[in-house]
Amino acid sequence: MTTTIQSRSPQYPGDLVADVPAATAGDVREAAGTARTVQRDWWDGGAAARATALGAAARTLRERAAEAAALVVREVGKPAGEARAEVGRAVAILDYYVQAAYGAWGETYPPSAGGVLWTERRPHGVAGLVTPWNFPLAIPLWKAAPALAVGNAVLLKPSPEAVACATWLADLMAETLPAGLLQVLPGGAETGEAVVRAADVVSFTGSVTVGSEVAVAATRRRVPVQAEMGGHNAAVVLPDADPGMVARVLALAAMGFAGQKCTATRRVVVVGGDARVREVTEALVSAVGALEPGDPSEDGVTVGPVVTEAARDRVVDAVAAVRASGGRVLVGGVGDRGRGWYVRPTLVDGLDPGHEVSQQEVFGPLALVQAARDLDHAVALADGTPYGLVTSVHGRDAGPLLEVARRVRTGLVKVNAPTTGVDFYAPFGGEAASSIGPREQGRAALDFYASTRTVTFAPHAG
Ligand code: NAD
Repeated sequence: MTTTIQSRSPQYPGDLVADVPAATAGDVREAAGTARTVQRDWWDGGAAARATALGAAARTLRERAAEAAALVVREVGKPAGEARAEVGRAVAILDYYVQAAYGAWGETYPPSAGGVLWTERRPHGVAGLVTPWNFPLAIPLWKAAPALAVGNAVLLKPSPEAVACATWLADLMAETLPAGLLQVLPGGAETGEAVVRAADVVSFTGSVTVGSEVAVAATRRRVPVQAEMGGHNAAVVLPDADPGMVARVLALAAMGFAGQKCTATRRVVVVGGDARVREVTEALVSAVGALEPGDPSEDGVTVGPVVTEAARDRVVDAVAAVRASGGRVLVGGVGDRGRGWYVRPTLVDGLDPGHEVSQQEVFGPLALVQAARDLDHAVALADGTPYGLVTSVHGRDAGPLLEVARRVRTGLVKVNAPTTGVDFYAPFGGEAASSIGPREQGRAALDFYASTRTVTFAPHAG
């Protein structure tokens, strides 16, 4: 029996965006065989041919940007402005790796006994990419583009919720890449597991639970693996930060795209006495309350629906758990616009730092306020979850800003900037439960998708 993968528009669940057969384990093995054959020619063809093909894909994506953005809005409910920004980022990623294909390939070293000593990068072979739905074009591309640029073939297992975007992207790239070099394998967990079993290098983005399993499975096969996972990101508000300005920045960082970014602000840690905490909390309530959820295809809307009914239920359950343990719902709670999986941007406080909602990521428009006596307490709260993706810190005086930036345990730190959004050419990744393996993006990705060979070339004379 063939299993099918369906994706539906979160704002109009009656709108079936894709209905495709899931790839079986046998399909994945077959795809890997084809990919392995095609990869040899792709690698032998040289850097200029790879750069030309990727450059042509970048041009086509730029030309079809409006179509791409509309599909992102329709399939995952991303607000139109953010969807357009994601497509722009996807084009920039391709452009970056077009140039990177021509970049320095290795290093030379002084040989100890004459001759020449050098290193060179070589592709692993077939890259297995397992991706989430929330950046349905940018995440597949920030993995696939460096993998292809250094000479690998790609098997992409997209999230079921974003299968139409992945297929659209692969069709576009098939116009310029050799047939079989980049293949999309729709499916759920079983298909993902089969891709991990078939690949020579594995890159995963998604939840901590699945990422940890993928890392174990890949390591057992002794193939290189990286897993980028969730976060419970804190924004630390220092006593000299302007409350109104910071509240507007943090409301968007927490609630934009209905809080469905791994880098979304989940906790606001306010440093100061009771009066200061009240002042900042009131500013946050007003900024969050001003974010009215709406149809993500309408310009100006920043908060659309969450991706599925199950995702909405998780937020509803978390709000109920907050209330049950004496926490306060300051603004939001659950609201329903009648159709679509809408949840009102919700801010809570009064939770114990050990409470499950204080500790575990809820992937939706829910954030909590935590009060900190001083800087030490703020750093302890910011770092007091299993995760370590990103921290932001806000204020005027450089001393405390630098101290928090130095002391927190996260892979990314933002000073006077939202936790969300990192330049696509800089290394990206977290610490603790947020990441396993080397960083993504930029030059770090080129290193991950290749292995380094050291060549000693000695003179013939004995
Ligand atoms: P998910 O872990 O449920 O799924 C991710 C992918 O793994 C999907 O393609 C899924 O089908 C696949 N999968 C599921 N079970 C598998 C298995 N046993 N073996 C192999 N593959 C399997 O995550 P999601 O719900 O799609 O995305 C949301 C999560 O992603 C959040 O936790 C978010 O924080 C995280 N995320 C992290 C980053 C980052 O860079 N750190 C970026 C975006 C999203």
